Amino acid sequence: TNNMYQQRIPREKSAAMFAEALEYFPGGVNSPVRAFRSVSGPPLFIEQAKGSRMQDVDGNVFLDFCCSWGPLIHGHANEYIEEKVMKTVVKGTSFGTPNEMGNRLGKLILDNHPYVERLRFVSSGTEAVMSAIRLARGVTGRNKILKFDGCYHGHVDSLLVKAGSGLATFGTSSSAGVPESVAADTLILPLNDRDLLEEILSKHAHEIACIIVEPIPANNGLLIQDPSWLKCLRIKAYKHNVLLIFDEVISGFRVGFAGAAGYYDVKPDIITFGKVIGGGFPVGAYAASKEIMDYIAPVGPVYQAGTLSANPVAMAAGLAALELCLTPGFYELQAEKTHAFATALEAYAREKGYPMHVPHIGSIFWLAFGTDRITRSDQIDPANMEYFKMIHHELLQTGVYLGPSGYEVGFISGAHSVGDLEEAVGKIKAAMDVAF
Ligand code: PLP
Repeated sequence: TNNMYQQRIPREKSAAMFAEALEYFPGGVNSPVRAFRSVSGPPLFIEQAKGSRMQDVDGNVFLDFCCSWGPLIHGHANEYIEEKVMKTVVKGTSFGTPNEMGNRLGKLILDNHPYVERLRFVSSGTEAVMSAIRLARGVTGRNKILKFDGCYHGHVDSLLVKAGSGLATFGTSSSAGVPESVAADTLILPLNDRDLLEEILSKHAHEIACIIVEPIPANNGLLIQDPSWLKCLRIKAYKHNVLLIFDEVISGFRVGFAGAAGYYDVKPDIITFGKVIGGGFPVGAYAASKEIMDYIAPVGPVYQAGTLSANPVAMAAGLAALELCLTPGFYELQAEKTHAFATALEAYAREKGYPMHVPHIGSIFWLAFGTDRITRSDQIDPANMEYFKMIHHELLQTGVYLGPSGYEVGFISGAHSVGDLEEAVGKIKAAMDVAF
């Protein structure tokens, strides 16, 4: 009922700004999920944020578990990052030339990541993935790519594709504007079906450039995979001579400095990065061995360029963020806090008999409904999203912000103190009492 979603916090200013935004932007937003279509009320217009909290234009303060969808691994307005950005920005914001900040971030990454030797900076995760696919096609001279149902790779044409009918199919477009001829070059398989993967590769490997996977699928809930399946992907890619791309836009520098590749000790041929790598600025990158990256212009025949690529201000932010990530014990501490948070919620759900569990890895977590472990997107019951809507609403009323969709994961940052997390656990428990 409408009553259930009554607002106990002021949202008038956000509502007015959203009404205005509807005059400027389709749906009032510049990225669809921001529109709050699957939760209640108008989207919040955020005015400022610090550490683990952000404040909206109505003066409400929220403990933030969205963290700008993942980039803010050190929380909002981290002082070390801010200082490096400020020092850089006053020297000019963009030169369109090589610059020292780019070198420094490149060196930091390559010195500390065991699986890549060269990289190219771009300005978003989508651009990184798009370029990595082009690179894989350029290296192999093949057109088809293989992806998995339940993985998201940005709004790249050839990846905005859904499975057709049947178990393993060439895709059909999942967005207007993506030509069917493009979609038809993408093969879609279910996650973790080893026999089907072998069958498809035996038949089609000669026309497949690459397998692309989110090693930690985190865009349709958090679908934590069996590590042995990721190893199997590596072995099969070698066996059938296709390239393996790990899309680490979320997992890169998040579950460890070397991302999921390091976490599971699996070496992909190409890795894509975004989010954390830019310290809150628009940065992406793709990386591989020197041999593979030498296919990129100006050395090789694969063209890829960018006006604002390796922008010095964004490089300074990324450099500061990744320096902080290298603080000894950083990742262990975030994982520990996240584990305590998730298990406290799970214990409460069990005690009360609520159908909820909290998959988590590193500092990523997901509020999952039902009691069975979920490892594929078709195991998610859309009807359960009503629980999420209620929990989301209750949490907004009590000062906790989750990303506005039950399919999205949450992030815990270095700025989330143990006290913050205890506060959040109490509030989430209370929201669970309302929802179930
Ligand atoms: N790949 C993955 C795994 C992502 O999670 C995302 C964004 O959420 C992208 C690619 C696209 O990145 P961007 O939104 O920066 O274009």
